[in-house]
Amino acid sequence: MSEFMAARPAPSVPAAGAADQVAAEAAVRQAPGDVLLDVRDLRTYYPVRRGLVQSVARAPRRHVHAVDGVSFSLRRGEMVALVGESGCGKTSTLQTILGMVKPTSGTVTLDGTDITALSERQMRPLRRTIQMIYQDPYESLDPRFRVRDTIEEPMLVHGIGSSRSERLPLIAAALEQAGLTPAELFIDRYPHELSGGQRQRVAIAASLVLSPALLLADEPVSMLDVSVRAGVLALLDSLRRDADMAILMITHDLSTAAHFADRIAVMYLGRIVEQGRAADVVRDPQHPYTKALLSVVPKRDPRDRTVPQILTGETPNPVDVPAGCRFHPRCPIATDRCRTEDPALRQPDAAAAGDHLAACHLA
Ligand code: SF4
Repeated sequence: MSEFMAARPAPSVPAAGAADQVAAEAAVRQAPGDVLLDVRDLRTYYPVRRGLVQSVARAPRRHVHAVDGVSFSLRRGEMVALVGESGCGKTSTLQTILGMVKPTSGTVTLDGTDITALSERQMRPLRRTIQMIYQDPYESLDPRFRVRDTIEEPMLVHGIGSSRSERLPLIAAALEQAGLTPAELFIDRYPHELSGGQRQRVAIAASLVLSPALLLADEPVSMLDVSVRAGVLALLDSLRRDADMAILMITHDLSTAAHFADRIAVMYLGRIVEQGRAADVVRDPQHPYTKALLSVVPKRDPRDRTVPQILTGETPNPVDVPAGCRFHPRCPIATDRCRTEDPALRQPDAAAAGDHLAACHLA
């Protein structure tokens, strides 16, 4: 394992109001038994390579705070959308849950088992339970493989079926479940003979054939034509409703999240700054960052006008996370307190629902 992934530095000092945060997070935990995935205070820090001068001077090692204290849970049959700008830590969160990256601290509990504590060998049988759908269907399929080979490959890895004739009906069933019907029409095609939407459905079928309990979808439609996006999103929606799968979807598109997800978690600079039921977050945003994201979502009704709130400045460097509230350098309503005190994730006074949380002193 590379030095980049292996280092596990001590986590930083807990945020002010940590007790409040723990209590607030407990409020949004689901009833035991329902929860499939439980992520608690997850941190993934990447060490920054030192130059010769810093090495000689023994300068302290610095870290990219890619994921910095993320907590949420996901029930079977539920879709949660992780929303935020590029570089906010969404993909690192997914990679850590999947075990591609070792967390610096925190836990990922899948169906009651803490998978962060498992060895690679212990993790192998569980890999079938968690499947990833990637952003780019043009990259995720091997151009030399026919559709049947692409879907058969994970079955071979996990030892499903003793012969090709035994696996073939399962491949056809996965294709049909992914909406590629009749399966015979697609099973012998190569990726270049498929549209972008059909390729993404083949990638989804290659996951479905393993009967996963959890799908991690990393911007699953952002590379597709607008005309086929709704179909792929409707497919994911039907999988969680009909097949009881839990889906954690990354998107930077709040309108997609609002339409398909049950709950939304808004990330900024490695941390969730607002979370709650999708309708509550979209209709009654509490955090200034969420308000800014929503202000630029086009409205269906032309009479429903909001002034786009353009945030000034760039997202701060995740190596030098600002003191206090990490959003304060860009926040239009920041006060002195915001520059020194890190706000805990808690239920804002104005929020109607107990499971609607925001990390803002003024919410
Ligand atoms: Fe803005 Fe302060 Fe709220 Fe942070 S705590 S979002 S800086 S008002």
